[in-house]
Amino acid sequence: MSVREKGTHLDLWQGSYAARAHNLRESEIRALFSVVSRPEVVSLAGGMPNIHDLPLAKLAISAQQLVLEHGEQAMQYGGGQGWGPLREAITEVMAEEGIHANPDNVVVTTGSQQALDLVTQLFIEPGDVILAESPSYVGALGVFNAYQADVRHIAVDEQGIIPADFVRTVKQARSEGKRIKYLYTIPNFHNPAGVSMSIPRRQELVELCRKYRVLILEDNPYGLLGFEGQTMTPLVELAPDLVVYLGSFSKIFAPGFRIGWAYAPPAVRDKLVVASESAILSPSMVGQMAIQAYLRDYDWRGQIDSYRQMYRGRRDAMLEALADYLPECRWTIPEGGFYTWLTLPEGLDSKDMLTRAVSELVAYTPGTAFYASDNGHQNIRLAFCYPPEDEIREGVRRLAKVVHREMELVKLFAFQQKGHAHD
Ligand code: PMP
Repeated sequence: MSVREKGTHLDLWQGSYAARAHNLRESEIRALFSVVSRPEVVSLAGGMPNIHDLPLAKLAISAQQLVLEHGEQAMQYGGGQGWGPLREAITEVMAEEGIHANPDNVVVTTGSQQALDLVTQLFIEPGDVILAESPSYVGALGVFNAYQADVRHIAVDEQGIIPADFVRTVKQARSEGKRIKYLYTIPNFHNPAGVSMSIPRRQELVELCRKYRVLILEDNPYGLLGFEGQTMTPLVELAPDLVVYLGSFSKIFAPGFRIGWAYAPPAVRDKLVVASESAILSPSMVGQMAIQAYLRDYDWRGQIDSYRQMYRGRRDAMLEALADYLPECRWTIPEGGFYTWLTLPEGLDSKDMLTRAVSELVAYTPGTAFYASDNGHQNIRLAFCYPPEDEIREGVRRLAKVVHREMELVKLFAFQQKGHAHD
């Protein structure tokens, strides 16, 4: 029987991998997927959007029409930068947040995840510094790690990045002779922290980045999901020359077509297009055309509105359940997006606790997933996007049971330690 047939994990090429391949790590979230997809488990772990209310029948007719009427174009390769009519439509989506964008500077990508990869490929050599919020998006940290970046986390409070800590971190890295390549930030409805950067902080941060010559990689998939319909001017509108901006249809429409985009100053845009062409030749034409048809033919603003209301209901259910069942914890109050960031009582470890939580049929993502360094043990990311409100409440109730048992154990342990101290 050949090695392939046996499905063995014996790796004949162990000595052949590039150094960067050794840095690839399975995301803590994806590792959880097989467990949390069991129907009896309430998953507060993954950030899957709830697309239950999409008008699927209408989308099906639209897809059929697209293939019947424009099939030869839809089934063909397209240009590396992305299809012109979609890039035009993307600028209308960006305008909803107050961005005056030029379609010439839009690069369509396979989800904004590919844009994260391309930007990192363009700028990062092993050991180069990327500044990121503390905590930061697990999927971005995975990319940064794969390119062997040195990620330095910057402290945040309820207004976003703390300017003094930004300056301290920049000076520290430079005093070590490090090259800082960019600041990666999610100013709106942060994943995982659930907070947004205040307007004065945005101004201040942009000025500091100009002063210290630091490029900004602004990741904004949730910006249109403010629960009161509110939007906050993205950094790219404040300083288009300093920012590479990433957008996505995954949360405001659906992730299935895997269409996102980068918006960059022309010189960076040109490099992104070449890098994307060498990675994928062109983004999916059928996906781009389907999204363009959706934006043209449907009330996509109304769809976003109904998403906002649905997610607001789930956020409320989560916060109410936390107040009822877990008053010993602290959590952020998200005004949009999918997540709240929970701080456990002293002495509890979210990573250790996870197997106990799963046996109580609730899953979450431990805070450790959101740091390049060994941090976040006392934190949990709770996602309220996917389960319905009653399940969210039940999930938090189960989580509380685990937390309370854990607190008892910590107390008992402390008591025993004290006892020994008197021995
Ligand atoms: N950035 C952030 C902050 C995200 O939360 C996600 C999705 N979880 C992405 C980027 C990637 O989104 P996509 O590739 O689906 O556009």
